[in-house]
Amino acid sequence: MAVPKRRTSTTRKNKRRTHFKMRVPGMVECPNCSELKLSHRVCKSCGHYKGKEVVSK
Ligand SMILES: [Zn+2]
Repeated sequence: MAVPKRRTSTTRKNKRRTHFKMRVPGMVECPNCSELKLSHRVCKSCGHYKGKEVVSK
């Protein structure tokens, strides 16, 4: 197995990780129950999507 010749310096490691950030999921309010839900997903609390109930509970 290939082994790195030199250890990665803290600066180099940190520079590599500048693209590696925390992301907030896109949350929108459900038009049916006004609960926060992920956009482009079926609402978790009422099972509605695009004005219709698609998942019953
Ligand atoms: Zn809902």
